[in-house]
Amino acid sequence: MSGTLTIAYIAAGVLFIRSLAGLSKQETARRGNLYGMVGMATAIAVALWSWAGDSLTGRELGLGLLAGAVLVGGAVGAVLARRVEMTGMPELVAVLHSFVGLAAVLVGISSYLEPRTGAFETVAARYVHLSEVWVGIAVGAITFTGSLVAWGKLKGTLSGKPLLLPGRHLLNVAMALAIAGFGWPFLTEGGTAGLPWLLAMTAVACVLGMHLVFAIGGADMPVVVSLLNSYSGWAAAAAGFMLANDLLIVTGALVGSSGTILSIIMCRAMNRSILNVVFGGFGTADAKPSDAGAAAAGEVRELKADETAEALLRAREVVVVPGYGLAVARAQASVNELTRLLREKGVNVRFAIHPVAGRLPGHMNVLLAEAGVPYDLVLEMEHINPDFPKTDVVLVIGANDIVNPGALTDPASPIAGMPVLEVWKSKLVVVLKRGMAAGYAGVENPLFTLDNTRMLFGDAKKSIDALVAACRGER
Ligand code: NDP
Repeated sequence: MSGTLTIAYIAAGVLFIRSLAGLSKQETARRGNLYGMVGMATAIAVALWSWAGDSLTGRELGLGLLAGAVLVGGAVGAVLARRVEMTGMPELVAVLHSFVGLAAVLVGISSYLEPRTGAFETVAARYVHLSEVWVGIAVGAITFTGSLVAWGKLKGTLSGKPLLLPGRHLLNVAMALAIAGFGWPFLTEGGTAGLPWLLAMTAVACVLGMHLVFAIGGADMPVVVSLLNSYSGWAAAAAGFMLANDLLIVTGALVGSSGTILSIIMCRAMNRSILNVVFGGFGTADAKPSDAGAAAAGEVRELKADETAEALLRAREVVVVPGYGLAVARAQASVNELTRLLREKGVNVRFAIHPVAGRLPGHMNVLLAEAGVPYDLVLEMEHINPDFPKTDVVLVIGANDIVNPGALTDPASPIAGMPVLEVWKSKLVVVLKRGMAAGYAGVENPLFTLDNTRMLFGDAKKSIDALVAACRGER
């Protein structure tokens, strides 16, 4: 039994690793997803099957509860995942992270209350187990409340602006010390008498999680989402230690380390350091996020759809910059159609992807892949930026912060220093958006009033459909 279990766990672990490798490229992402699903199904099946050793009644009761939980949880998850819009994905991901954190807290508390707590072979073994419980609950609680706040900020229920309490760094240090400090009495109390310390620490960690994410400004949310993803992995790994489940440790470590690597990549893309994100506050008091939002002083010039279509048909090089508004308008299929049409007419159309475009790492890649845009037309920021000076027309579709020249020229901007797509270097920039509203960071965008910029106002899908019709000569 234990040999088969080990083999099945190794197989699931390998499938998870292959899944991550597959997800790193668009061409292999579907296969990667499939590996992940098979790995998870294997893990659940094996975990159920290995439910041996307890008394029969306990096993029956446990299996009944487990089956009920899997059915109810699976049904709720399936309904939510089917219903969620692409624009709601970031919130869904944030909520899922919070579940992992909550699970680690609950596993930790139940693992502590389990009768065997008093029956360890050595004192050292007991201390090791109690430390696992402590760390697992601390990381889980921070992940739980931090993810809930991130969910509120992404959904717009909570303000995206950073909440900067006076002496917030001291407050964080005091909470971190309390989390560590409560550990000593918890470890030294016999049996389960340390429960009040454990609960007190859980409460402090919950407040710390909330405070850390409340203090982070809108523009840093991409890194926070990926950091919370990594925390959720570490929380799962800690739960794996508590339950002595090797597969959970491996899976948690994979999620934790890949989330950490993603956070570092996103920090680099935004020209930030992780410490600076977590403790510095991007878009904080010294920088001034503009409330009113968007409109920079200067003249805004409009272009109609047929004029834009003419410019596109005359162009040799066109670059499309998709942003969050593309997801809102669900315009990906129309964009693909426009691309196909222009390419048929000999125009070289390519796509420029900013690492934090949209509301989720890889958001734009997913949308374009869903619409069937060929992968080789989709370029990352560092590859496409040098090409803007030789580009005839750039179509900015529902993007704002990621094409804001103020990030490079205005040191007081909340997004100062963030590398952006330098679209203004091209001959003509046409921005498709509904009005002059600001983007996620709430910053005004001087791009909209530059001499070579024109605005094509309206919902992105309607505007692109009009461009398609005009390019076909239907209008
Ligand atoms: P922005 O949020 O900066 O801008 C989106 C623009 O789309 C808005 O200005 C809006 O203007 C326009 N828009 C909205 N709906 C429509 C529509 N139906 N049709 C046409 N336009 C529309 O998006 P970007 O992608 O440029 O930048 C992403 C921002 O989100 C960055 O600040 C990033 O830090 C942040 N972020 C990114 C995350 C990630 O992981 N990628 C996670 C969390 C935050 P209007 O209302 O006038 O139409």
